[in-house]
Amino acid sequence: MPHQSKRQFITRLAVASAFVAMGGMSLPAWADAPAAPARLANVMILATGGTIAGSGATSTTTVGYTAATVGVQQLIDAVPELKKVAHVSGEQVVQIASENMNNETWLTLAKRVNVLLARSDVDGIVITHGTDTLEETAYFLDLVVKSHKPVVLVGAMRPSTAISADGPINLYNAVLLAASPEAVGKGVMVTLNDQIQAAREVTKTNTSTLDSFKTPELGMLGYIQGSRPFFYRQSTRKNTADTEFDISNLTSLPQVDIVYGYANMNPLALDAFVAAGAKGIVHAGVGDGSLATKVVPSLKAARAKGVVIVRASRVGQGILARNGEANDDALDFVAADTLNAQKARILLMLALTKTADTKEIQRMFYTY
Ligand code: ASP
Repeated sequence: MPHQSKRQFITRLAVASAFVAMGGMSLPAWADAPAAPARLANVMILATGGTIAGSGATSTTTVGYTAATVGVQQLIDAVPELKKVAHVSGEQVVQIASENMNNETWLTLAKRVNVLLARSDVDGIVITHGTDTLEETAYFLDLVVKSHKPVVLVGAMRPSTAISADGPINLYNAVLLAASPEAVGKGVMVTLNDQIQAAREVTKTNTSTLDSFKTPELGMLGYIQGSRPFFYRQSTRKNTADTEFDISNLTSLPQVDIVYGYANMNPLALDAFVAAGAKGIVHAGVGDGSLATKVVPSLKAARAKGVVIVRASRVGQGILARNGEANDDALDFVAADTLNAQKARILLMLALTKTADTKEIQRMFYTY
């Protein structure tokens, strides 16, 4: 980073951090600071890049900036308040914009998380991440992390150099959440904008606003206010140490691709994925996962070759009804339940590491 913008970045973060500290002063005494624990928790910050580590040309650049330019130690140093809530140390796992996240990096990250959480001197983990695929990494980890200790993914909608950058407060909240005893056993969590969301259900809903991360209909887990997490609900689906998935010996994941439904849909993309060796296809259909008549022969041919077909919906909310818009029993397809297509892809990849039996895979979609 050029010297000038680096200085700008530090200044911005320092200003934003000062806001964090000042904000507490007007709060009631109980909310002014984190309750003094017997000992400070040890929280590891694993950095992967994204806008939270991004920088722009000017302080008003909130689009068209460069993601993944600031290193983990700079992120930590820019929020001195972290020291009040935990002993933090950082590791740079990768430095990428999250549109470049891939299966191999997920495996590397998950293995590192599992090694760290197995240590008695690590109480929780924060992962800094680009927001574009943050929900996918969160759900992948929710299915493969073998610990009930808190794992929190955090990102930012504005680059670190912007006026009112959201990265510093989001990072502060993430660390205090990962350090918090209330966060134990809640599955992998996501925090931005003072809210706590569950990995399985959260999704990015807006290209650029600070309140982009939401859990439509089912609702967030809770809030962070006055340096404390407040939980109100919990997902009923199994996660982390209670799943059947084990990635410790995996070096790759089965190829699973997504085809998107639309009016005038043709089967070209689906046929190409199957020809390229896809082991699974998630069909993000219109409405309740409806299948265009023109695409059905390709779906059937893929299934006949052993490719597992999961019906999801492009709608973004609601249960995908098994045997609703298509006869899944007759077609031997799997229904995605409430998972969006990008998360259904993750569960299908992990399911395929265990079995190709569609009844078993359907059970997993109703379990996780
Ligand atoms: N493209 C960026 C990323 O996902 C956007 C962000 O982080 O908000 O890395």
